[in-house]
Amino acid sequence: MTVIAVANQKGGVGKTTTAINLGTALAATGKRVLIVDLDPQGNASTGLGIHRANRAKSSYEVLIGEVSVSDAAIATAVPKLDIVPATVDLSGAEIELVDYEERTHRLDHALEETADRWDVVLIDCPPSLGLLTINAMVAADSLLVPLQCEFFALEGLSQLLSTVERIRSRFNPGLAILGVALTMYDRRNRLTEQVSSDVRAVLGNVVFDTVIPRNVRLSEAPSHGVPALIYDYRCSGSEAYMALARELIGRLPPAKPAIAA
Ligand code: ADP
Ligand code: MG
Repeated sequence: MTVIAVANQKGGVGKTTTAINLGTALAATGKRVLIVDLDPQGNASTGLGIHRANRAKSSYEVLIGEVSVSDAAIATAVPKLDIVPATVDLSGAEIELVDYEERTHRLDHALEETADRWDVVLIDCPPSLGLLTINAMVAADSLLVPLQCEFFALEGLSQLLSTVERIRSRFNPGLAILGVALTMYDRRNRLTEQVSSDVRAVLGNVVFDTVIPRNVRLSEAPSHGVPALIYDYRCSGSEAYMALARELIGRLPPAKPAIAA
């Protein structure tokens, strides 16, 4: 099992769209995938068609230790894709968890108990670097950072990277940056091209070759409660997420056997 946190403290950069569609694309390649919705807004849960009534066991209950990840995980309409949904209760968790033992390791410990039920766990982080995102980074093997192709794309990245450094030195020395994914790429816009080449010059190979185009299908799909890959599997957005999944699989370390020989 590999745990990937989809993180960027900026809102609206494509974290949730990436978690949903990359999760679906990975499931389509045969991986057993779990999305953990760690944003109080619950957009990943809504985008995957999970009604509020089905969110009694959510990531909040997991973090406070009331339910296990396996108990909270529910199947989605996508074969092999499950989700631990989120509710607004999570917004209080940042403060409530301060009083808990090992407050930074709540999600890490909860995921350890799931052993190898899933091949890939994608954590959809909220747009902040608070305790929820820290729990995701402590639990994760690696980070996937969506970066929107806009003028201020790199602004804020240094803050993200210094948080990663802090998590590495205090809690999770192995935390890797799996990759940076350029999102909302618009080939007709010269600014996009410029931002993309600047970002590649600064970050090098950590940036995925695959770029996610700006595609209206990606923004329409959530209102139908399905991933774009189901809503319209031939749209440019769906194709890009399939390509990103293939590229990402190529970067994953070989799976460790559940029991060492
Ligand atoms: P975040 O989770 O980082 O806040 P979202 O994934 O929710 O960002 O994306 C923000 C908004 O942009 C949403 O309305 C989403 O549908 C839309 N969006 C995301 N990626 C794309 C894309 N590649 N093309 C068009 N719209 C997109
Ligand atoms: Mg989001």
